[in-house]
This record gives sequence, structure tokens and C-alpha cells, in this order.
Amino acid sequence: MFIGHFAIAYIISHFFPSIPLWVPLVGVSFPDLLWPILVILGIEKVHIDRNSPLQKNLEFNHYPYSHSLVLSTAISSVVGLTLSMLLQKPLVALVFPLSSASHWILDVVVHRKDLPLLGFSKKDITVGFGLWNYGKSAFVIEYAFYMILTILFVPGKYMLGLLILGTIFHLTNSNSFLGLTKTNPFGTSKYTYPIITLIGFSLFIILASL
Ligand SMILES: [Zn+2]
Repeated sequence: MFIGHFAIAYIISHFFPSIPLWVPLVGVSFPDLLWPILVILGIEKVHIDRNSPLQKNLEFNHYPYSHSLVLSTAISSVVGLTLSMLLQKPLVALVFPLSSASHWILDVVVHRKDLPLLGFSKKDITVGFGLWNYGKSAFVIEYAFYMILTILFVPGKYMLGLLILGTIFHLTNSNSFLGLTKTNPFGTSKYTYPIITLIGFSLFIILASL
């Protein structure tokens, strides 16, 4: 999931108006900012199908640090605590890990059954409802989810800009839902897809914070 995560940042920002928007934006992105770095370092593993651009065909073989509920939330709590001290805003210690945990919960809806619960057990439970198996539905549902929450929770003067931003990024991501190309345009390099993910999330955070 991509733009859907940011809709949760808008809700969190609505309930914690004293926290700058970039904090929940980075928080909801945290698992997908950490994941590319760990994949590039060889700590987490993904297999990319050269014959398919679809998200449902990504095999997330090992990603306990970035994408488990318990271990990832523990890591994001440490980051949140550090950030709260730097910004001298105690609430950040709560908002940051809360935002990061929301990422896992939304990913459960779309991912195949590959999201670990604990992140540190060999006999870990993995979950995922697999909405990505229904690419067209997933495309429409994630877009509707983003649009509705943006309209409900973003203050009027920022709303239009964030609706346009979400639309552009969702359309940019459409090949991974709809399979418009026959092969994976990013190839099977272990670096390309993680770098694209890192750039995509970082760019959205920067543009949405402006
Ligand atoms: Zn994710």
C-alpha cells in the first residue's frame, strides 16, 4: 500500500494538532523507509518476479524488522522517543509509533499472508488478507480510502493540494495494481525496487509537508 498510509497520517494530525504534520507522515511511512535500506544491506529479503509488475507477485521472504507488528513497533518507539526529545514534544513518543503501527495494520489488508506478527520468533504467525490479489478492486479501494479520509480530516486550505498529490502518486503506482506492462519495468535487481520505494515515500512526505 502506498497513498492509503498517508490518509492515516492526516487523521493522526487532526487529533494531535500540536505535532507537525511531517511527524505522522514519516511515522506511517517508517516501515517502508526502513525496508529499502535493510533490503539493500541484505538484512531483509524480497523476490521480484521479472515477468510481472504486480504487487501481488512480490515475495516478501523476510522482513521482520520493518514489517512485523511487535518488533517494528518496538523499533519505531525508540525512534519516536529520540525524536520527542529532539523536538521537545513528549507526544511525539506516542504519535510516531502509533503512526508506524498503522502501516502494518493497513498492509495486513492488502498483502498476501506474509506479514509477521512478532518479528523475532522462528515459529512466527504471518497474516495478510490479500486484497492485492484483486488488482482493480485494490486500486479503486485504496484511492477511495485516501480521498474520503482526506476530505474528512484535512483542513480546507490544504485539502485540494493533498487530493491532487494523492491522485498523481496513485496513478504513478497504477502499473503495480493493473499490470499495464507485461514485464516488471524495474527488473529483478535487488536495488531498483527498494530505491523506487524509498524515493516514492520520501517525495510524498516532502511534498505533503510543504
Ligand atoms: Zn509496507
